[in-house]
Amino acid sequence: MTFPVHRPRRLRRTEALRGFVRETRLTTGGLVYPMFACPGTNVRIEVSSMPGVYQQSVDQIVEECREVADLGIPGVILFGLPAHKDETGSEASAADGAVQRSVEAIKKAKLNLLVITDVCLCEYTSHGHCGVTNDGEVLNDPSVERLAEAALSHGRAGADIVAPSDMMDGRVAAIRRKLDEHKFHDVAILSYAAKYCSGFYGPFREAAQSAPQFGDRRSYQMDPANAREALREVALDIEEGADMIMIKPALPYLDIIQRVRERFDVPVGAYNVSGEFAMVKAAALKGWIDEKRVVLEILTGIQRAGADIILTYHAKDVARWLKAC
Ligand SMILES: [Zn+2]
Repeated sequence: MTFPVHRPRRLRRTEALRGFVRETRLTTGGLVYPMFACPGTNVRIEVSSMPGVYQQSVDQIVEECREVADLGIPGVILFGLPAHKDETGSEASAADGAVQRSVEAIKKAKLNLLVITDVCLCEYTSHGHCGVTNDGEVLNDPSVERLAEAALSHGRAGADIVAPSDMMDGRVAAIRRKLDEHKFHDVAILSYAAKYCSGFYGPFREAAQSAPQFGDRRSYQMDPANAREALREVALDIEEGADMIMIKPALPYLDIIQRVRERFDVPVGAYNVSGEFAMVKAAALKGWIDEKRVVLEILTGIQRAGADIILTYHAKDVARWLKAC
């Protein structure tokens, strides 16, 4: 017996019914807002390909964090721009770097915010690669040592969570060891476990001024064609001590989010990256799509695929829209 006994449309008849049987309920509770910290004071420069996103000095970062916290968004992730870059990305681990000072300032302001720091070298190296290089090659083990130093400096500044995004082998274990050696047992690690070599990072590279000066990142970031390899990367990071893992980008990798969610029992995050954001913004500016509707649909899709945590530049807008509902 099917039709007319079974009529799925019965439960779609009114908003009350639709809301009652809704399987995925998007809330601000899992959102993380990415921010870019730069040197100076009173600096606020909009990233041209990311409307509403700024490179900001510490004082401005704290002001925007106040707004983020007031909107009920639980966390921010900080990326840093150094005063100058060098071969080994020394400023990545500098106690007075823009990220480290931002963390201290946010904590001092006693905002109700989790402070996550991105741990990588690409914003800090003169060549723009995520690790230390020699003869055009990105070296794994010396890079891991530098990354652990950077993570330690974030822990010292007061970060709640460090998020290594470099894709070097063994970096989660090295960071855990380094943090523990210095008694930062409570600093959690959210690893970018499956980070793909993606064309969707374009606008971010403008925001973080981190485009590689030679070659590309294919020797460390993952091949977009691989899914089983992502499961292996996630397994290794969890074994090494990652408390949470992330898939990046989100939209072209919803299948990866779903497979990781089904296989592993740690919190799963997804990064709705700059290119995904810029496409929506550009189309919305042209009047080609309904921005609010499309953004809510995208984030619902990412959550439905299995992400508990979503890092997104839309976070503030979404929090406002959900508040108004
Ligand atoms: Zn990087």
